[in-house]
Amino acid sequence: MPIETLKAIETVSDPEFFHEGQLISVLTTQPLDRFLDYKAPDGGCFNGAFLEVPLGPRKVLGVVWGPGQGNFDIAKIRSATRVLDAAPMRDELKLFLKKAADYTVTPMTSMLRLATRAPGLSNPPSMQKIYRIGDVDMGRMTKARERVIAVMEDFAGAAFTLSELSKMAGVSTSVIKGMVDAGSVHEEETPRDAPFLRMDADYGAKTLTDDQTSAAAQLCDYMRQDHYSTTLLRGITGSGKTEVYLEAVAECLRRGQQALVLLPEIALTAEFLTRVEARFGVRPAEWHSGVTMTERRRVWKMVGQGGAQLVVGARSALFLPYQSLGLIVVDEEHDTSYKQEDGVLYNARDMAVLRASIAGAKVILASATPSLETWVNADTGKYNKVELTARYGKAVLPALKAIDMRAETLPSDRWISSVLQTEIARRIADGEQSLLFINRRGYAPVTLCRACGQQIGCDACDARLVEHRFQKRLVCHQCGDSKPMPEACPHCEAQDRLAPVGPGVERLAEEAAALFPEARLAVLSSDLFGSARSLKEAINSIADGGADIIIGTQLVAKGHNFPNLTLVGVIDADLGLQGSDLRASERTFQLMRQVAGRAGRGEKAGVAMLQTYQPEHPVIHAILHGDEVGYWNAEAEGRRAAGVPPFGQLAAIIISSSDAAAAHDVGLFLAQNDGPLRRIGAQVYGPAPAPIARIRGRYRTRLLVKGDKTTALQAALAEWVHKIKAKGDLRLAIDIDPYSFL
Ligand code: ADP
Ligand code: ZN
Repeated sequence: MPIETLKAIETVSDPEFFHEGQLISVLTTQPLDRFLDYKAPDGGCFNGAFLEVPLGPRKVLGVVWGPGQGNFDIAKIRSATRVLDAAPMRDELKLFLKKAADYTVTPMTSMLRLATRAPGLSNPPSMQKIYRIGDVDMGRMTKARERVIAVMEDFAGAAFTLSELSKMAGVSTSVIKGMVDAGSVHEEETPRDAPFLRMDADYGAKTLTDDQTSAAAQLCDYMRQDHYSTTLLRGITGSGKTEVYLEAVAECLRRGQQALVLLPEIALTAEFLTRVEARFGVRPAEWHSGVTMTERRRVWKMVGQGGAQLVVGARSALFLPYQSLGLIVVDEEHDTSYKQEDGVLYNARDMAVLRASIAGAKVILASATPSLETWVNADTGKYNKVELTARYGKAVLPALKAIDMRAETLPSDRWISSVLQTEIARRIADGEQSLLFINRRGYAPVTLCRACGQQIGCDACDARLVEHRFQKRLVCHQCGDSKPMPEACPHCEAQDRLAPVGPGVERLAEEAAALFPEARLAVLSSDLFGSARSLKEAINSIADGGADIIIGTQLVAKGHNFPNLTLVGVIDADLGLQGSDLRASERTFQLMRQVAGRAGRGEKAGVAMLQTYQPEHPVIHAILHGDEVGYWNAEAEGRRAAGVPPFGQLAAIIISSSDAAAAHDVGLFLAQNDGPLRRIGAQVYGPAPAPIARIRGRYRTRLLVKGDKTTALQAALAEWVHKIKAKGDLRLAIDIDPYSFL
């Protein structure tokens, strides 16, 4: 039987149906830690249906989870109000939410909120008016009208609802209506939530190299298997991983299934969308924080109804209601931004594997420098492994060299070594590009008063404020708070005695400008761009040769292609090596290799130079010698010996409160009542004040729990913290496999 027919038969088996008035159990998005019983609404409903249900005086969103529990007085049970216009939630997604909730020790209601993050799901289906950019030369221009045009230009080609556009531009709706009359904005009627255009799996296939062809064939073979599998696609930067996994996406589309590609950074989306369009003829659905609200609802609904074949998105795209998920690609799978650090604390890479294993789908983890977890799983055969060994075309990997900073005699306010300076000068003379990399945003990490010796700190956090000179502000990188750069010291009030200490990307740019006054500089740091679009424009212009020296933070380490770039200078290769962080060395290794990989992606060979004070450090040594396997083996041994991930389990408990003593007392109580953990042989460390003991005015106490790989840690944790009742503003968060140790 052909596969298409098989799938069709599977999906025909309808979910259970509940007749009007029958008892149903409903999960709502409200913070109650239980399911609620209702009577099925007028016309009945399917299991999994999205409903509107009364809760107290309000109407809230819910999902039918199964038959009612029946342990209430049936006469008092209320009826669900109505069934919403959305495909019922499939069992696969329910099971995923349940398992993800158990794994992250999160209430189900929070998981449902993650899975319904689209506005207006309860709105009836209907037509709506949308607004697009018209002839911008029409009508008289005012400041308000210019803002409307700017917003529309920023989301080129996008359509907005009236309220979206007026909110985003900060103008009244009458301004927009006036522009419609003038012709500078067009008004159209469309059905809400139209399906996405069909993709053509065979539209723009590239001719692959032999290496790429066999990698793609291997991935397509896995796609054709009917069971779940995860594959590590490992290949140096520029080897064509993206081209290769797009072939797996094509195979997924041919099978009539949906694919999801997760990217670590919205800034990479624009370039990726262009590649998808070139490959499949149309643009895919997008899901990330830069997507308009109307579009979010459309994507959510269309994913559920099969009207979207490919979703490109951020972490939370994992929680969309796919109708038949076939493939999840996690690009740059080692990227730490896959770990969600707010709200529900989950790792999107791990959750992708979980969801695929439930859905019987495939996962491709693509990286030049895989995480240790993935590397171990591929090494032990739990994951498949497909490798690309050569760069595409004439590009070759850059040579790697260390610059021993102990031999340099730079003044204390300069960071570009004489060696690097000479190399840059040569690139400028030859019309080639250089990249200076420093992983620090802003101008200077510390502002010191020369009169009293105090450093300027954040009022609400135990953190120093970072000067951002372009914005003329001091910014807290913990809480985001900022204030204008003062002229007098806030401590001793001395005038004009504040001095910047240490370099950030802006200060490095200043040094480069002084050293090379003729050169054209481009500074790439996430906080210097108002929108993804302006960042994309900057990147395109650099790629077209619009800069001689690029000065950037880790934003430049990811994905961008600068063919004329032949020199990478890493200003402080040691920066990530300090710190109590479990993954500090792994991250440095990955970041340095990735940054180095930016050089020599075109016709000309590249070189990467690492300024370091410890050239013999094992991590620096491994980077310089390209000894990946040696590095991973050493790192794996260290983690195995310490019993930490991926060879053991770790969980962090963070207790925070505006009352320091209250937070600490709860920590002590937990440490003294660790029965549930002792029973499974897990150890508790702490409580101790967190390294950043105060953020946003809240005091933070941490405990760390360590357990064997095979113990049921989550269940024990849930039992352990169950006794803690939230008093006042005290909060307790459980972070399974923490990435941040602050
Ligand atoms: P990676 O994802 O491994 O860094 P990419 O897929 O981005 O590599 O490929 C690097 C560059 O080489 C891209 O510009 C890509 O379009 C190009 N490229 C790779 N393989 C091919 C191919 N077979 N044909 C044409 N261009 C290719
Ligand atoms: Zn702060």
